[in-house]
Formats: sequence, structure tokens, C-alpha cells
Amino acid sequence: MLPDQQLKKSRRPPGRRRTGLFWRLLFPPRCLLCRRLLAASSTVPLCGGCRALFTPAGLFCPRCGKELLSGQPCSCAPEILPLRGLFALSRYEGPWRQMLHRFKFRGERALARPLGNWLGRLLEEETDWRPELVVPVPLHRHREEERGYNQSYLLARFTAEALGISLQPLLVRPEAAPAQSSLSYSRRLENVHGAFLYRGKPYPGKRALLVDDIYSTGATMQEAAAVLHHRELIVFGAAAAYTPRLS
Ligand SMILES: [Zn+2]
Ligand SMILES: [Zn+2]
Repeated sequence: MLPDQQLKKSRRPPGRRRTGLFWRLLFPPRCLLCRRLLAASSTVPLCGGCRALFTPAGLFCPRCGKELLSGQPCSCAPEILPLRGLFALSRYEGPWRQMLHRFKFRGERALARPLGNWLGRLLEEETDWRPELVVPVPLHRHREEERGYNQSYLLARFTAEALGISLQPLLVRPEAAPAQSSLSYSRRLENVHGAFLYRGKPYPGKRALLVDDIYSTGATMQEAAAVLHHRELIVFGAAAAYTPRLS
């Protein structure tokens, strides 16, 4: 290994811890739901009272939406999908839903760090996915300009931080899908799914974690996963919340 590669490799985790500590001193952690101050040592971003209101979700099936026990494959054989698995912090309901509304629509970007860090830590504890890079689900550019930020990008950034891996914004959402006839053959294949284009270095065989704020019908994440899968990445998905399917 070249010396500068070694340096890069050994630098990341301590740097990550220092940044986290510095941040905690400047901005002591608060409960995500009621904003009450938490102990600096708190590993869960919820106060005691709000923990009682919180229903953790965990793993669920990307195909049928069934909640799964760790390590248990779903009986509907989801391995045929580009998305190998899904993990969410909670169901999209009650106070958790209101908190995500503040994050998404009312400019409360500061929620990204505790949410993303917690998502990364729980994912590491509860799955054996071992992702090597994190890919945010992009917003349409005009929507990002309106809002001033992409909440999925922010969430993904802090999920990557907790996992100690890099954030790679490999997907773009074109303003309007380009006409198929104007594209080369390989670009046409990517454009089949329409909503996303791959941009950046190839990562064949790498384990990617796609991050979105809310997983509802799953259509967006499935399309994003299909584009990454087409580029030979192994894709898993994570979200701050998901909408359970009615069965
Ligand atoms: Zn609270
Ligand atoms: Zn299933």
C-alpha cells in the first residue's frame, strides 16, 4: 500500500470521532420529538418519555412490506429484486411523522445529524449488510432549489458518517428525462427507468446503501436501486420512516 493511501485509510475513523465530540460540545443533543436536552452520553436521540411513544421498525421486506426479524428472509423471496433489503427507524406515523415533516418541509436541517447518525448505528448493529458506500436518493433540482436542501442527502451524509464510509451521490434526477433517441445504447438502458441517471465513477461489486427520508410506496427507491443494480452494485435501502402497506 502506498504511504498516502495508508494515511487516508487510518485518518478517517479518529477524525469522525473528533468531529462528533466537537459538535456535541457546541450543540448538546436534544430529543428529536420534544426537543428536551439529553445527557451528552446519550446514544439514543430520544428522552425517556418519548422513547415510550416510539415504535422501532427495523428490517422489512422490499417486496411485500412485511416486517422481518433480523436474519430472516421473507417467504416471498425478495432476493430477485435489485433492492436486497430495507431498514427503517420507525413507521411513518404519530409524533415521528410530525418530526419528519419539520425536517422535510420546515427547514429543520439540524435534525439530519441525530437522525442519520442513529440510522447508521442501528443499521450496523441490526444488519449484516456491511455497506461500503452511501448513496442519497436525489430530489428534482427545482424542488431542491425551492426547499434550499435535499433532506435525503443530509440524512445520507450523517448515516455515512456513523458508518465511517463515504457518501457518493451517484444518482441524478434529470429535469426532464432526455429523449431516448438522443442517447447512446448504454445510456438508453439506464434511462429505461426514467427517473434517475447514474453519474460518477463505476463501483462494480460494491455494497451500496441507498438512503431516503421516507419509504412509502417504494417506487422511488426501487427505481433508484435498479439503476445502481444495472451498474453492478449490491444495493440495500434505509429510511428514517416507512409507511406500512395495508394487507
Ligand atoms: Zn422527548
Ligand atoms: Zn416479502
